[in-house]
Amino acid sequence: MSYNYDDQNIFAKILRGEIPNTTVLETEHSLAFRDLYPQAPTHVLVIPKGAYVSFDHFASAASDAEIADYIRTIGEVCKAEGVALNAGQGFRMISNAGSHGVQEVPHLHVHILGGRPLGRMLAKA
Ligand code: AMP
Repeated sequence: MSYNYDDQNIFAKILRGEIPNTTVLETEHSLAFRDLYPQAPTHVLVIPKGAYVSFDHFASAASDAEIADYIRTIGEVCKAEGVALNAGQGFRMISNAGSHGVQEVPHLHVHILGGRPLGRMLAKA
């Protein structure tokens, strides 16, 4: 089955410069910017510049260069935000996918959250 990418999603508009963002870091293949509705003192979204819906889509279709750039960018953001473990107190990475993952924006993004203790990962159902 193929992945359907909707190029009218809000992060595609950010990448085209149609709506503003607060950039933390930009590389050849990736963009990191602050979440508009932060849920922790650090709340940064990292997206690939390519048209990928979700992490599984990216993992199966992106080039090695895009994947390396993306993973390195996530690490650099953790460092720049002071949450990396060699200097800070840690963070949580979340990537929601699809309806069960409750993904609102259908362009791959990793949330990097930190700056306070974040509690348990999931509330008990
Ligand atoms: P998700 O539920 O994982 O798809 O998360 C989407 C995230 O995008 C949410 O945390 C929103 O607060 C965030 N968001 C929505 N619109 C914008 C925007 N224009 N700039 C930055 N973050 C946004």
